[in-house]
Amino acid sequence: MHEVSLVRSIFHTLEEEFGAEALDSLERIELRVGLLANVEPVLLQNAFRAWTETEGRFGHVALHIELVPIEVECPTCGRRSGVENYRFVCGHCGRPTNRIVQGTELLIHRVHFAERQPGTTAPD
Ligand SMILES: [Zn+2]
Repeated sequence: MHEVSLVRSIFHTLEEEFGAEALDSLERIELRVGLLANVEPVLLQNAFRAWTETEGRFGHVALHIELVPIEVECPTCGRRSGVENYRFVCGHCGRPTNRIVQGTELLIHRVHFAERQPGTTAPD
């Protein structure tokens, strides 16, 4: 399933970035998902919930998805405008355009960690 592998790769990326130990205090992940990113937010949320519950240690982590609207650049007048209802026309001069400058991204925008003193959680 597409969304599950996405969730896995998100955690893989975070582990590479912060280290496996730091992820113990992970609280919240914020994604920016373009409307053309081919990701269904609801399915992604469901896959995230299912996967983190199975993994156990990430069961408390929240996922926030921010949808990024589509923006195009006009080849005629050179200006950028938003795309509504998937009509790829310039919002200024009305010419058709397929130069997408925003809306295909899938980014880990921000991550939050619980504030906790390192080394205080594992007494021998
Ligand atoms: Zn234009």
